[in-house]
Order: sequence, then structure tokens, then C-alpha cells
Amino acid sequence: MTAERREDETVTDESEGEPAAASVPEPDGLPPSDAFGALGGETRLEIVRAIADETPRTFSALFDATDEDTSAGFAYHLRQLTDGFVRQREDERYELTDAGRSVARALRAGTYTASVDRDPIELDDDCPFCGDVALVATVVDNVTEIDCENCDAPLLQLSFPAGGYASHDADDLPEALDAHHRRRIASFGDGVCPDCAGTVSTTVEAVADRDATAPSDPQETGTEHVPARTVFECEACGADLRCPVALTLLDHPAVVAFYHDHARDVRERPIWNVGSEWRERVVSRDPWCVLVSTRLDGEDLRLYVARDGTVVDHRRVDVGEDHTSESASDRSRRDSGASA
Ligand SMILES: [Zn+2]
Ligand SMILES: [Zn+2]
Repeated sequence: MTAERREDETVTDESEGEPAAASVPEPDGLPPSDAFGALGGETRLEIVRAIADETPRTFSALFDATDEDTSAGFAYHLRQLTDGFVRQREDERYELTDAGRSVARALRAGTYTASVDRDPIELDDDCPFCGDVALVATVVDNVTEIDCENCDAPLLQLSFPAGGYASHDADDLPEALDAHHRRRIASFGDGVCPDCAGTVSTTVEAVADRDATAPSDPQETGTEHVPARTVFECEACGADLRCPVALTLLDHPAVVAFYHDHARDVRERPIWNVGSEWRERVVSRDPWCVLVSTRLDGEDLRLYVARDGTVVDHRRVDVGEDHTSESASDRSRRDSGASA
């Protein structure tokens, strides 16, 4: 029986049982088509914007804030919003619901409407593949692509909200992009979706596993130098993220302390520059274990990461001049299944 087959069975068991999902109450609210229909038309969006600018507001103040000619016509549009986005208070003035505030923020930030392109921005950081200072960020339709102009390595494609592009010029966009995505990765890693706060499933997998048409045989694949990555998927909204396992470990206390002890601050490394000193490989498939290691000044920090992304053990090893071979402790660790 292979590790892959057992995973399939586990997935089937979960979908048949579903005891946990049944205990979560279904939310109230409008069907999506009714909700989006209620927002249709400029008058209704004007009402949402007007309440966001000043809240709460009276019927007459809102009527004056729109271009409607008659109060009857205005009242009709306001009624369409009061099922989901606007509510009337006991003092008869109007305020936004939580969904209404979310729509108001999206309107202001251009979340659903703005498409941003930017000229290439040169970055100050080394390419993690060739070491040259030749990284360039280009923005096309709200997605920043970071490439190396020297070795042509495509590094990352990072979505960034349109409102973020509007707020940050070329000088501080890279820092904002890095901060935004570090928080996203950290939130995914905490099991909470950064977009909808839903439950996130985390899987550390060999890169070949998901891309292969048939499950690979661990006996043939072996355990040496199989690249790995972390896959986060939100069970509620479907948001997902695939990234090197190392990027999910940057705020682990052992990593922060290791960099600090070598007089480096891991927070100052933007996510597109983390990589050259890191290695990742699958060292055991049953139980699943990925060894993620980083080397600074002749010392290794080795982190043993389980299938669900948790660090089950870590250690420091003085490697001196030995830069290639797996140590005896590594091998015994693998054979014992890395269960700390
Ligand atoms: Zn390069
Ligand atoms: Zn989500």
C-alpha cells in the first residue's frame, strides 16, 4: 500500500462522514444573485457611498446625495438595499450593514473595477538563482510578476489589491508587496483564510505528486532531492496558495533565532529573495517528512516538516566544509520516521 493510496482513502472518509461541517450553522442572508442585483444601478451605489461618507444619515439627506428626481424613485432604490446592505435604525436614520461596509470599501478601493499596469520596477535584491542584482517587478492587471533579467528565472506572481497600487508608488511598492504577502502566508499557515477567514487545509507535497498523471511509486522515486512545496487551500472560498515550504517557516522561532545568532534579520529578506541558502527535500514518505534546511556561516538549521506543515523537530548542525553529503544523524532521523 502506498502513501498516496492511503491519502485517497482518508479524503473519502472525511467526505462521507462530515460530522464537523454539520455542527456549523448555515448563515442567513440573500442568494448571491439577489444581493448583486440589489446593487445594480448608479443610484444604489451612490446611496452606499453617501452613507459610508457620513453615517447614520436621514432619508432626505440621502435623497439629496443622489441624482434621483423624485423621492418615490429614490425610495424604491433604497428599499432594494435594505434587505442586505443598508438598515434603518430605531431613530429612522440609515446605516450600512457589515456587508454594506464591505461593498463601500471595495467601491472606494476599486477592488472589482480597477485594472492596474505598471512600468517595470528594478528591485535592489539579489536573484536567488544567479545572485545578480537583476530582479524586475512588472505589474499587469493587478498581478506583479517578479523575474530576473539576467537568468530569465520567473520567481513569483503576486496578486495585489488595486487599492494597494493606488497607495504605493514605485519606491515603496516592493516593501508593501512583501509585507502583504508575508501576512497572507502567515494567516494561511495559522489555518485562517486571509480573504474570508474560513478554515484552511495545509498539505506539504512533493512537486511531482500533483503534476504527475499517476501516483508515483515511492520505491522508485526514492527520497533524495525531491522538491517539495506547501499548498494552502481555503475550504470556504477556494482561495489557494502554493509556495516553497521555506516561505511558510520564516516566522518559526527556530528560524528567527538562527538568523539572529548569525547577525541577520530574516524579516529584512523580501520573499522573492529568500531561497538561495535554503534547501528542501522529501526524506520520508511514511510517515511523510520534508527536510527544510538553511545554511549560514557553516552551520545548518534543519527543520523536519510533517504532511500538515507543522515543524515536528529541528536541530542545528555544524557542517564546516562538508557542503553536500547527508549526515549520519539525518539518515537515522529519516529511518526513525522523524517522529520527535
Ligand atoms: Zn537570476
Ligand atoms: Zn477563504
